Amino acid sequence: MQILERLLSYIFPDSCVGCAARGSLLCPSCEKQILPARKNSEEYISSAFSFADKKVQRLVWLLKYKNGQRVADILGPHMARSLEVFLKKNVQQKLPVHGIVVPIPLSKERYRERGYNQAELLARSMVNASNQFPSSNLSFRVETHVLTKTHNTFAQAKVRQRTVRQKNISDCFLVQAGRVSVSSIIILVDDVTTTGTTLTEARKALKKAGFQYVYAQTAAH
Ligand SMILES: [Zn+2]
Repeated sequence: MQILERLLSYIFPDSCVGCAARGSLLCPSCEKQILPARKNSEEYISSAFSFADKKVQRLVWLLKYKNGQRVADILGPHMARSLEVFLKKNVQQKLPVHGIVVPIPLSKERYRERGYNQAELLARSMVNASNQFPSSNLSFRVETHVLTKTHNTFAQAKVRQRTVRQKNISDCFLVQAGRVSVSSIIILVDDVTTTGTTLTEARKALKKAGFQYVYAQTAAH
């Protein structure tokens, strides 16, 4: 997949999602202009960018359907910075600032279709980037086995009504803590959150399994 991506980018050079300049998916000047996310209504969620920004919408589309790894490499460092600020503000000093990053899983069917989980790519890129901030004492690792999706849900976009969405998605996450201690800080990762329904369901499942400190970081909101 990555070799194919590289080959395609050689034949069709990237162009910026903002200004169409050749050379990269997001040029430095458009990167500086991306709208930051508004505050989430769910206080445990931190998001880097506003999904109202067209550049962000295009990046998320590319992340899911075309250039997964390269888009994750662009968004991950921004998510890491956003998480660092969020944790400093919201998590008490006495808590250890190391923990477990858990990508929101895809259903088996969707994973097979796509070939990768975009949330996992974001989680790995974010963790790599968070190790590169000299001022930060963040130390995270990605664990993909903690949370699995137990059954397929309707495509969320097709289910507009919030109550229906909640019903559709509840009880669809299974938690297997394995060797992960329930006293760890968990950071859920997803690409986009709107009402927070998916993240809230995943958090509920983790809390039920005994985890006390569950937060979330998304690329966009
Ligand atoms: Zn640009």
